[in-house]
Amino acid sequence: MIPYGRHHIDEDDIQAVAELLRKGSLSQGPTIDSFERAIAEYVGARYAVAVSSATAGLHIAAVAAGVGPKTRLVTSPITFVASSNCALYSGGAPAFVDIDPDTINMSPSELRKTLRSIAGIRAIVPVHYAGLACDMVAIKAAADEAGAVIIEDAAHALGSRYRDGGLVGNCAHSLMTVFSFHPVKAIAAGEGGLITTNDEAIYRRLLRLRSHGINKLDDPWQIPEQAEHNGVTNPWYYEMQEIGFHYRISDIQCALALSQFSKLDRFIARRRQLAETYDRAFAEMKYLRPAQREGRDRSGLHLYAVRIDFAAAGIDRGSFMRELRKRDIGTQVHYIPVPAQPLYRKMGFKPEDYPHSLHYYQQALSIPLFYDLTDEQQNKVITAFKDLLA
Ligand SMILES: *Cc1c(COP(=O)(O)O)cnc(C)c1O
Repeated sequence: MIPYGRHHIDEDDIQAVAELLRKGSLSQGPTIDSFERAIAEYVGARYAVAVSSATAGLHIAAVAAGVGPKTRLVTSPITFVASSNCALYSGGAPAFVDIDPDTINMSPSELRKTLRSIAGIRAIVPVHYAGLACDMVAIKAAADEAGAVIIEDAAHALGSRYRDGGLVGNCAHSLMTVFSFHPVKAIAAGEGGLITTNDEAIYRRLLRLRSHGINKLDDPWQIPEQAEHNGVTNPWYYEMQEIGFHYRISDIQCALALSQFSKLDRFIARRRQLAETYDRAFAEMKYLRPAQREGRDRSGLHLYAVRIDFAAAGIDRGSFMRELRKRDIGTQVHYIPVPAQPLYRKMGFKPEDYPHSLHYYQQALSIPLFYDLTDEQQNKVITAFKDLLA
């Protein structure tokens, strides 16, 4: 079976985890700091906070951004549910902005319209779909005008670049950026996420929110008479200054993530090569075209998504996917528009209100793209698509 995506583990990844187990720091230890420093340095951000998942990261990023009751957080309908659920976790309300059909990313002009028509938008969560970075200059200009902050959902985009050449996560156009290290993403930590920022106050807030809201920094004590005796801090003392969560990542996970990170360039180079082969192979097809054409050289290519005009091709998507499965080819749909989910419909959202997203959803299919996909397997995939859509 050829899946649509899959992680790659080398012997040295296994060694890195085994070595950590021998050294003995299982939960909170120096490997977390090393991983955070490595990612912050790589993307060019001042601070990084590693967490248990990107979902956890989006949650505390939304809290740190000030999302709460009477505020809204807007994102793209074509994303994983976590991008908008973070609004609900924080006690705020979600909202959506339709995509640009050429990039499958949040449309900056639709964003401007939404910012004008809906009050109380505190945060904007652009999603770098399939690794193609959003038009952050336009999104930042719209956000600034509306007094909203930006949290980039970069779950697909470790190693991706903006149009200006900067690496996604440098936070040149945002307050925070959130990455995922779920095995299907660019690098695997088992489960894991990370938030980058250049803002020191946000960094400190994220550290507290990650661990129960307990102040482990040199922030001022709120009850100094309890904290200190004769001006010396009591050795047992800690202070919970706000409600936080247990969203910590472990040293074990970071040992794997750090080892995986050393291969990121290699991973992306192979993905790019495979994507270019698909692009060439599909150039002349009648009912199928790549969902994104621009920016192949700056996208991290988390997914290779195609649009298929199933109606014109005379086959429904379910049957098509089952036919591929018979040939041992796995595919997936990224994504069902979030406003189409039952919970979101109950809140009053309708997928029809986001026509480009709905249309994309009807045609979308993610096809196999991962580091270990061989040329032979890729040829098999290409042949199957040409066959079934002839
Ligand atoms: C995978 C994903 C997430 C959630 O990542 P986890 O680490 O699994 O919590 C969030 N947003 C997008 C766009 C994703 O693809």
